[in-house]
Amino acid sequence: MIACGCRVCTSPYSKDKRLRSSVMIESATTRIVVDTTPDFRYQMLRTETKTLDAIIYTHPHKDHIAGLDDVRAYNFFSGNPMDIYANYLTEEALRRDFYYAFEDKRYPGIPELNMHTITDSDFMVGDILVQPISVWHLRMPVLGFRFGNFVYITDANRIDENEKSKIRGAEVIVLNALRKEKHISHFNLEEAVALVQELEIPTAWFTHISHQMGLHSEVNETLPKGIALAHDGLQFDVKNPSV
Ligand SMILES: [Zn+2]
Ligand SMILES: [Zn+2]
Repeated sequence: MIACGCRVCTSPYSKDKRLRSSVMIESATTRIVVDTTPDFRYQMLRTETKTLDAIIYTHPHKDHIAGLDDVRAYNFFSGNPMDIYANYLTEEALRRDFYYAFEDKRYPGIPELNMHTITDSDFMVGDILVQPISVWHLRMPVLGFRFGNFVYITDANRIDENEKSKIRGAEVIVLNALRKEKHISHFNLEEAVALVQELEIPTAWFTHISHQMGLHSEVNETLPKGIALAHDGLQFDVKNPSV
């Protein structure tokens, strides 16, 4: 990304420096990453993530799939293919964009993938129960996910009423909020705050933030209790959430 010279792009504070949106879910025995962004390789190096059990995809936009090739490193270490989970739309894009990983005669050293198709049904990855939530990104169906008391939703601007029932009762949500101004396919700040309040989620972190949002510290001061902008490297335990 080219720094545009705005106050966010030139800010010296680490919380104003954002890589693409992704999240890692860990239990005692299982580690999942949601989406392989163009920054996936660096995100895994930065967090010293030596093992990874599965990747789950939200949707096929390039900022959420582009880093898939770098799962090769996990193939080398584990000796196993990487389990990847995607809906039909994302699976189609992965098979197109990373065609060489799906050919019968494959070149040595390419990613080894084990594709699983996500439907409406809940599924298990190791000991983690994953509940898909269908949300809208303009006209594209995108998957959000509920993991126990934690919900992760990115790249949405609308959620149908019946899907909202899958979110209610969660302790913590990470939700996309792009900027203050309205956007055609992302919640803006006001819409994201309203949704968190409507669904009565006690703790919310906003992600997929544009530099147009403004400085992290200044925007946070304006947000209601329990709601804050997320930042790169943020970690929390869903049993003990705090903002
Ligand atoms: Zn998107
Ligand atoms: Zn995106």
